[in-house]
Amino acid sequence: MDIINPATEELVATVPDSTREDVDAAVKRAAGAQRSWSALAPGDRARHLRRFADAVDTHLEELAQLEVREAGHPVGNARWEAGNARDLLEYAAGGVERLTGTQIPVAGGLNVTFHEPLGVVAVIAPWNFPMPIAAWGLAPALAAGNAVLLKPAETTPLTALRLAELALEAGLPEGLFQVLPGAGPVAGDALVEHPGVAKVVFTGSTAVGKQIMAKCAASVKRVTLELGGKSPNIVFADADVERAAAAAPGSFLDNTGQDCCARSRILVQRSVYDRFMELLEPAVTSFAVGDPADPATQMGPLISAAHRERVRSYVPETAPAAIRGEAPQGKGFWYPATVLEGRPEDRTAVEEIFGPVAVVIPFEDEAEAVRIANATDYGLSGSVWTRDVSRAVRVSRAVTAGNLSVNSHSSVRYWTPFGGFGQSGLGRELGPGALAAFTETKNVFISTEE
Ligand code: NAD
Repeated sequence: MDIINPATEELVATVPDSTREDVDAAVKRAAGAQRSWSALAPGDRARHLRRFADAVDTHLEELAQLEVREAGHPVGNARWEAGNARDLLEYAAGGVERLTGTQIPVAGGLNVTFHEPLGVVAVIAPWNFPMPIAAWGLAPALAAGNAVLLKPAETTPLTALRLAELALEAGLPEGLFQVLPGAGPVAGDALVEHPGVAKVVFTGSTAVGKQIMAKCAASVKRVTLELGGKSPNIVFADADVERAAAAAPGSFLDNTGQDCCARSRILVQRSVYDRFMELLEPAVTSFAVGDPADPATQMGPLISAAHRERVRSYVPETAPAAIRGEAPQGKGFWYPATVLEGRPEDRTAVEEIFGPVAVVIPFEDEAEAVRIANATDYGLSGSVWTRDVSRAVRVSRAVTAGNLSVNSHSSVRYWTPFGGFGQSGLGRELGPGALAAFTETKNVFISTEE
């Protein structure tokens, strides 16, 4: 498979396209490696993972540059992504010895619980944040005693392949962590269907997530789904409107809007609507678009020509827009920052566009804001801008989404839980429960009777 730089359309690398036979061989190798890995003393497993984290840390810049070339991410963002993968490995290493069971009082004996590893885990990753999302599954799954087969997205396998090399250099057993670049319907599907795979961790579109969940049902295979979003950014009249407007562009333009948590529906209380739009215009048009290798760049290209066509199918560059930024001409899959004014029921206001496009919608009062916020099938994240702490709590509780932020757009910290309500997903990743999600709880009763 040819890997294309989305900023220049140049060939970056060519990688193997894994077959069903490759997947089968990888599962068998992984199963062998997992047995000895799970038998290691917890401290030894943790030490291996710390060495892996150190190897990632030593190669942080190289990994970031790979991400710039294969995904078109601005280099500052790519450095954060590589750092996130390292942090996840360190965090998971710290959790190995804390993955403890419980002792539950019973009559006539002792009752204890154990966290047993699942076996071989498949991590199927998307192209929008290739390194962090790979690490979100990889690190806790390994820490809990599993083997991991990672299928990166077709367009972005290079950082995943490099991570697997670094794992070997750091001394992780052969076969324990393998990368299978390849097509979703072939390598991805083979992992989902394989009887030797105990759990599938899928991050990607809701449509593919539904297919995977249906296939997993056949053998009651464990599944975690991190799917799409259409998150609201709710600005009340009592907010610091200047701050809210200054922060809004980052919340839907970062990663060129290819962010499952993008706040692509901006709901603004009518009394401050005009003021907010006045402030938003310069904030959007000054967002720095261009060469991802330039540290000053804030927004790069879209991932591919096909994805740009999808974004255009919602909003052609020639369609009327309230605000439109600039985009480079010529080679590369560029698309300008675009803000539309719309209604809650518009297709652009309910479907995930996954590009640098936001829809601004006015509302009258708190009840209407919550009603509009909840009027999609998704429920991944959202922001609430207000100076009233009671309102902040009320609205955060009323919005049906997994990750809310108040006076902020920050959604992801590796030590706090992350996941979606509704059709945004199933299960949680990250946070204190991350390792336990890769185990089965076993209950053992030991009779003390003679
Ligand atoms: P996608 O669903 O097209 O692909 C995701 C992965 O699934 C890729 O590796 C792909 O090869 C694989 N795949 C495709 N068809 C498959 C099949 N039939 N069987 C098994 N695997 C298959 O998604 P994408 O376009 O790569 O990613 C964008 C989507 O991911 C967006 O909807 C975005 O919101 C979502 N996303 C969600 C989160 C989250 O945490 N909730 C994070 C990032 C991205």
